[in-house]
Amino acid sequence: MMVAAQPALQRLRITLRGAVQGVGFRPFVYRIATELSLTGWVLNSSAGLVVEVEGPSEALGRFEQRLERERPKAAVITERESSWLAVEGFTRFEILASDSDSGKSVNVLPDLATCTDCREELFDPENRRFEYPFTNCTNCGPRYTIVTDIPYDRPNTTMREFVLCPDCREEYENPSDRRFHAQPNACPVCGPQLDGTIEDAVEALVQGEIVALKGVGGFQLLVDARNPDAVRRLRERKHREEKPFALMMPSLEVARKYCEISPAEVQLLESQAAPIVLLQPKPGTDIAPNVAHCSPYLGVMLPYSPLHHLLMQECRFPLIATSGNRSDEPIAIANEEAAIRLKDIADHFLMHNRPIVRACDDSVVRLTRGRAGILRRARGYAPLGIHVRQSLPPVLAVGGHLKNTVAIGVGQDVFLSQHIGDLETLEARGAFEKAIEDLCRLYSFKPELVACDLHPDYASTQWAEKSGLPVIRVQHHQAHVAACAAENDVQGAYLGISWDGTGYGLDGAIWGGEFFRVENQRAEAKQFERIAHLRPFGLPGGDAAVREGWRSAESLLFEVFGEAECGDSRPRLSGERSSLAGQLQLSMSKVRHMLERKINVVPTTSVGRLFDAVASLTGLAQQNRFEGQAAMLLENEIGRLQTEEAYPLPGGDWGPLILAVMADKRAEVSASLIAARFHNALVEWILEVAAHSGLKQIVLSGGVFQNRYLTERAAAALESRGFQVHTHRQVPPNDGGIALGQAVMSQP
Ligand code: ZN
Ligand code: ZN
Ligand code: FE
Repeated sequence: MMVAAQPALQRLRITLRGAVQGVGFRPFVYRIATELSLTGWVLNSSAGLVVEVEGPSEALGRFEQRLERERPKAAVITERESSWLAVEGFTRFEILASDSDSGKSVNVLPDLATCTDCREELFDPENRRFEYPFTNCTNCGPRYTIVTDIPYDRPNTTMREFVLCPDCREEYENPSDRRFHAQPNACPVCGPQLDGTIEDAVEALVQGEIVALKGVGGFQLLVDARNPDAVRRLRERKHREEKPFALMMPSLEVARKYCEISPAEVQLLESQAAPIVLLQPKPGTDIAPNVAHCSPYLGVMLPYSPLHHLLMQECRFPLIATSGNRSDEPIAIANEEAAIRLKDIADHFLMHNRPIVRACDDSVVRLTRGRAGILRRARGYAPLGIHVRQSLPPVLAVGGHLKNTVAIGVGQDVFLSQHIGDLETLEARGAFEKAIEDLCRLYSFKPELVACDLHPDYASTQWAEKSGLPVIRVQHHQAHVAACAAENDVQGAYLGISWDGTGYGLDGAIWGGEFFRVENQRAEAKQFERIAHLRPFGLPGGDAAVREGWRSAESLLFEVFGEAECGDSRPRLSGERSSLAGQLQLSMSKVRHMLERKINVVPTTSVGRLFDAVASLTGLAQQNRFEGQAAMLLENEIGRLQTEEAYPLPGGDWGPLILAVMADKRAEVSASLIAARFHNALVEWILEVAAHSGLKQIVLSGGVFQNRYLTERAAAALESRGFQVHTHRQVPPNDGGIALGQAVMSQP
């Protein structure tokens, strides 16, 4: 008689690495394992998430499939190992306590926006968390801003001081509950509390007052975005001239009244990162004109924490929500600190007693080439690692000077800090040092070398030189393209196009319009051959020309027309405020003197400065009141104009271009057409160099490529000619991405 064979039992061990902690992965594994009647265990270790399951091979196969297909959406798996082992004879499936002794290589998760389930409970009068501003679950809530150590467990977060009540404990310990091991789990009985009321804060906002709100990654300053007087007061007190403010909208529906929002932009707004998304404003709304001045975009975000949901539910109008700091200072995170530092800015405070471990600004994202392009990487994205092809030495990359971020290389991962800011003030440099210390401590990371910029005056370079560790100096524009190539996993040779405002060149000049043939940025001999660049011109007054774009214009006119016709540009000043024009006339004669005598004139190949010059010549902007302002205005001027016409820019020589711009000015050609012809000239130049290079892969990086018209047009033109184009996704094209490039270029 034949006996049906027992299905053979097998044991499977799976290790997952990446962002797998704090996303409800263990309850998810528990659920599918028990549904498939498998035995074994799952645990979070500091080396990753480890699962062992035992059962018939068919069920194990299905387990693997479901693990892949149904995993929590916040989880990011960067590595997966599985092995078959001898049967152990487990009797049930269980979740084991975390172990913390193996090496730390697990990603810390970013903060996640409130999920739909939690939002429903928040507004359900029957729910025990009705209107509780700190509700969260394994699918949402604070992470990076509350974690003090890994693995990510409650004792390693600032929630350790709140003892779970019996109800919360039951949820926390129940594998089938949405709050199973939700580390920040809390309720009105046991969790953090507000110091003040939402009603009072809203009343203050209605009165036009400035409210300092303790948010997720630090204090935010809130003000009614429809009230120009209130906005003006905020600008004065914060010392912020014209840089646009971001808005928080009560809901997507309200946001639609103010902006054009595409389906892809809706996805970004409603994503777990819930960033500020740059949207096109609709005309004729009641948003105060001094919110974004002449910016073509409105930065908009939706409520992303229960506290924000409650506040926005109560005040149903758009609010400015900006970092709680004075310009150029780090964001305040602690209550006592905020009470002092924001005392002269805010009229009203709304605080709470859940401590914030580290400052994390709101991130800024814009749709470019049909996908998200990160312009400021902080809350919701930091500190997710960027997985790279090569194994890196233990390097600490300290980034640039403006929009600073720092990074550490851990094996094949680069962990990039949140946006720290411009290292202009003592406070900002303090925040920079703190961020380094914090990142290293969190990952138990001991750097063996430091990578920094070539610029000797950058605060980050100076820090590197004093660190006592071996220093690798990485050229700024090479770091830009290396970052973009690394995050796109570009293999083989490529043409790296690196355009920005300023960076220290290998020859000591200010670079910013560079083309590199990169054979292999990973090989021993790092090869960056500078195959083309903008024809150099002089910046009269050096750094002063960065702020005052008209200086670049004067310099180019001087080169093209000589002394005689230089004054020809004067009519363009009519567009500026008259008081300013008076000052400019004065400085202009000084600048002309500098140019004639070649005194204090610094050579540059910067495309960013060429943008400034053209913006000045067209009369659109004589100054940059914030980085990139003139270029932004020039891009915006194109509007919906469509033209294929381009100025001549043969081999990057701006001579013929300036002649053509001035001829158009005399013929009273519109600024829109001048702006379009200028942008198109840059695209033509890119095509020319790309064709000559013989390379097929093109990498675009540097702050100039925040220009959507330029980036999209260049990418489309290149792609239609068979080139493969790589642009940034996970890190910004501006100097916020430099640290990644420095890290990948530091390998021996
Ligand atoms: Zn939730
Ligand atoms: Zn509780
Ligand atoms: Fe740069």
